[in-house]
Amino acid sequence: PYAGSPALGTATIDLAAIAHNLRVVADAAEVGVIAVVKADGYGHGAVPVARTLVGAGAVGLGVAQVAEALALRAGAITAPITAWLHTPDTDFQAAIAAGIDVGVSSSRQLAALVAAAEHLGETATVTIKVDTGMNRSGVARDEWAGFVDDFARARAAGAVALRGVMSHLACGDEPDNPANTDQADLLRAAVADLNAIGAIPELVHLANSPAALTRRDLAFDTVRPGVALFGLNPVPQHSRADLIPAMTLRTAVSLVKHVPAGGGVSYGHGYVVPADTVVAVIPVGYADGVPRALSGRLRVRINGRDFAGIGRVCMDQFVVDLGPAGGGVTEGDEVEVFGTGADGGPTAREWAELTGTIDYEIVTGIGPRIARRYV
Ligand code: PLP
Repeated sequence: PYAGSPALGTATIDLAAIAHNLRVVADAAEVGVIAVVKADGYGHGAVPVARTLVGAGAVGLGVAQVAEALALRAGAITAPITAWLHTPDTDFQAAIAAGIDVGVSSSRQLAALVAAAEHLGETATVTIKVDTGMNRSGVARDEWAGFVDDFARARAAGAVALRGVMSHLACGDEPDNPANTDQADLLRAAVADLNAIGAIPELVHLANSPAALTRRDLAFDTVRPGVALFGLNPVPQHSRADLIPAMTLRTAVSLVKHVPAGGGVSYGHGYVVPADTVVAVIPVGYADGVPRALSGRLRVRINGRDFAGIGRVCMDQFVVDLGPAGGGVTEGDEVEVFGTGADGGPTAREWAELTGTIDYEIVTGIGPRIARRYV
């Protein structure tokens, strides 16, 4: 969005790693993969990532919003796309016109989709999202019987055609949690109810990345992973899958300067240098996705060495301590803010652990001022 001047930070996206990760997940699950590329491909850039995943054999793509699906179509992605999160304002006519498979979570959503289909004189493709226990999206248990009746009528009228039946696991990252098996049982029962009205889905899917990597028995017709495709293993204690992180965040040293002993660094002078030192200004900040909660706990790689962040992370920048001799660092030197960790450097996982979150939040939080570069 800021074309015209070089960005100060770059996220290099390793598309070969993404293709590799798809194969790793497909091998683990032994079924096809609907690749989840919502939230701009988990921050990696939805269109190039989707193109890579489809080229590597994904059977379809999943996104939350119809707008995300339309953006993929605008990017010339012709593969099947399912979009499953809507509001009453969602433009189902645009979704139908673009051949998007609409995930529906209620009779109200189904009615809105039917109205759009009838207006266009077309048949909408539907994936029924069943709430099997997460109590989030999906047709609620107490609405299920009525929903099936409504769906049967809409189908008989030619307004909708069934493509899939899906549900989402609440505890997929705990492979042994009995809730996973309970959810799978309820999904099977829902499919049986649909079969009873003559509706046979092409694809039934439940498993997210953690389940795809650990519960082959829950794979159904296809799995629906997101984060693992980007090389982030959500269950490292249960799976040693050979995933390669796809994003490396880099910038360049903006300034190098001396700070005398006793000098306070950054807002609030939260860090006071104990002895004369040299610092570097790193020009990415919390607006770019460097959590402010990492203040004083960051490390970056410059010329193969680790340097520690000092003082508060600001909106656009933070400061690292180069030591009294300056560590041989000069302005313009490349800074690896996080990467694959292959060289022992900082990773999105490390940031997540330090800030009490998950690496999903780190990579999806990399902001629009960071250029994406594909290799
Ligand atoms: N399916 C649904 C409905 C989701 O909301 C998500 C992401 O949260 C996924 C699949 C992919 O999950 P993960 O990134 O854990 O593989």
